[in-house]
Amino acid sequence: MLSAVYKGIDKIDIEERDIPEISRDEILLKVKSAAICGTDVKTFFKGHPLFTPPCVLGHEFSGIIDRVGKDISRFRPGERVVCAPYIECGNCDNCKNKLGEICKNKSFVEGAFSEYLKIPDKIVQKGIIPLNGKISFEVATLVEPLACSLNGIQRLKFKVKDKKILVIGGGPMGLLVSLALKQLSCEPVISEISEERLEFAKRLGIKVISSKETDLGKFVKNYTNSRGMDAVIVALAIPQIIEEAFLYVKEGGAVEIFGGLPKDSVLKINPFLIHYKEIDLIGNFGFSSKHFRDAYEMISSSPELFEKLITQRYELKDIKKVFYDIYEKKVIKAVINF
Ligand SMILES: [Zn+2]
Ligand SMILES: [Zn+2]
Repeated sequence: MLSAVYKGIDKIDIEERDIPEISRDEILLKVKSAAICGTDVKTFFKGHPLFTPPCVLGHEFSGIIDRVGKDISRFRPGERVVCAPYIECGNCDNCKNKLGEICKNKSFVEGAFSEYLKIPDKIVQKGIIPLNGKISFEVATLVEPLACSLNGIQRLKFKVKDKKILVIGGGPMGLLVSLALKQLSCEPVISEISEERLEFAKRLGIKVISSKETDLGKFVKNYTNSRGMDAVIVALAIPQIIEEAFLYVKEGGAVEIFGGLPKDSVLKINPFLIHYKEIDLIGNFGFSSKHFRDAYEMISSSPELFEKLITQRYELKDIKKVFYDIYEKKVIKAVINF
């Protein structure tokens, strides 16, 4: 089988590898679509503490079950499925506190930029969902990033229906969290600097504001009758934007760090706002199996809406080009089809 093996910064090679052997409680998946995530791009260009080369990247994927282990009766070869790239253990302190996304003992798959992928038993038990007939392999790759978005929304700790939420950054994650908010009866506003991205968000039916042309502070003042937003979700990896977000949020509201920042980043925040105004600063990372199932439900209720996010398709052999195209912002969401 062919795999795209990440060998270090700016190095990735397509290699012939053996199809993985599976044991009695595992599944072999034939990958059909794998989407490229910001994390993959970051890893390719800058390295990542979680991915030590050589390894195979890719964690947003769907496919066809090729083989099942002897002990598995719930799934059959030929079934179309979406699969979580990791799953929580269910037993650690964090899992017991319903924080499966930060489980201390997750089980992982290796990486989906490969023709076949072995699915370990823990993920077989809780992380595989059969696709209904309307769901394409491509749109199913969005279940994972949408699950992360649903975790982000849940971390806001209030019902988002009819709330005023500003999403800063109209990249794939900003768009996805905005679509999820819309499905939950909240009309978010995306602020973004790129003309093209603003147009794209508008075509998805999302309210937008150009941060190049409009003063965000003034906009928020008008939009909320001087009250401020209920929440500002920062879907950009720029510390200053997080600091700025406090200017737009109301008393008792929340600022959420939705995009990962480098480990040594430092923020300058006025503690007055957090103490006297009770503004929460929250973060979110990854998803639990519950978010994954909820994300599948949400996508299967409007696959045609989510499908619009996928703008470019590639073959595995072009993987380097995909990374460069995303880096140069030529692409919103790219998938590799097998
Ligand atoms: Zn991802
Ligand atoms: Zn756990």
